[in-house]
Amino acid sequence: MFSGGSTFTLFRIRGIRIAVDWSWFIVLFLVIFWLSDFYGDVLDKPSGATEPYLLAVASAIGFFGSIVLHELGHAFEAQRHGIGITTIRLWIFGGMAQMDRESDSPGTEFKVAAAGPAMTLLIAILLIAYGVFTAGVSDFRDAMELKLTADTTGITTMIAWLASINLIVLAFNLLPAFPLDGGRILRALLALRLDYGQATALAAGVEIEWVTGSDLTEAHWDAFFAFYMDTGGRKWGRPYLNRRFFSLIGERMPEDILLVMAKRDGRYIAGALNLIGSDRLYGRNWGCIEDHPFRQFEGCYHQAIDFAIANRLAVVEAGAQGEHKLSRGYMPVPMRSAHFIVHPGLRRAVADLARQLVRVGNKAVVEGQLRGRQHPHAHLVNLAPDVQARKASLDEKDGQLLFVREA
Ligand SMILES: [Zn+2]
Repeated sequence: MFSGGSTFTLFRIRGIRIAVDWSWFIVLFLVIFWLSDFYGDVLDKPSGATEPYLLAVASAIGFFGSIVLHELGHAFEAQRHGIGITTIRLWIFGGMAQMDRESDSPGTEFKVAAAGPAMTLLIAILLIAYGVFTAGVSDFRDAMELKLTADTTGITTMIAWLASINLIVLAFNLLPAFPLDGGRILRALLALRLDYGQATALAAGVEIEWVTGSDLTEAHWDAFFAFYMDTGGRKWGRPYLNRRFFSLIGERMPEDILLVMAKRDGRYIAGALNLIGSDRLYGRNWGCIEDHPFRQFEGCYHQAIDFAIANRLAVVEAGAQGEHKLSRGYMPVPMRSAHFIVHPGLRRAVADLARQLVRVGNKAVVEGQLRGRQHPHAHLVNLAPDVQARKASLDEKDGQLLFVREA
């Protein structure tokens, strides 16, 4: 976008800098130029007369004020939710409130996005009420439609123009497209009602199956092994289990296994292997073979929590790894584990890192990473409130705790 270099500050309000971009002056110039002519016609004054020109300047200032109020609507609502606003910038296409972070919940995003249009609607209503009160319905309506036949004073004609322009600003901003307010409102509404992963899976025509016990077949293991090799080989470290391992666990302990498999067009495309304990579900390996499987896999991943709730398992253990699990609603807890590292150099490096982590506190490290870094899968954050809600309802219902641990 633009750098701050081409803007200058007009004034500050509640710590928010109101700045104008040079391009805004094109708008001002056009508005004044065109409206002087228009008011001249309305008032039957020759071009260049003082009154039409002053009305045009006042209209331009009123338009400017309307846009600033619209943005302040967003800004004050954002501040109410703890989102910092540094600058409101006006440029050729309107205004923009620059926030220091995104909304952290669909509810907040909805309120912040809707506050601007609500302000614009309020301005339009007040202007129309004033105009109808002073000029009557039909004349004021004619004036709003910029008809020269409207029998209104110069001031009322200006009020009518401002009412019209605010209605146009309102309609434009409510178009359901990004980055307009309408697009943000739509996204917030969708995120309120749908589990992101499930919604995406549904939209992609993906079916989810829970396979356990005698339903497990070699065909399932063939499919899962392909996912495992693909994912393990690509980015999640070296695959260390062979194909026979999966047949063996399927044969020896089928009742302790939950395979969550995602299917599209009759073909398995992703799967997750979970082991069922007495009071917990251990999520272990997962994999997928399609190009954009991560999102679909989220639906799959969430299935572990659904399964645990349905089968009254208190805990879902998500296993080790990084902060991407926080975005899925999993909280880190301290864990112990034993390892023997053969290479002495690597052993020293790991021991060093472990000591550092102990010193700063593991939790602090993870939280710091979450706060200090734009998450690569930020869109998945929407899952967390949902998981939290389920956890809360489970807590209330039978005093159990659903949480997930991570090394
Ligand atoms: Zn807006």
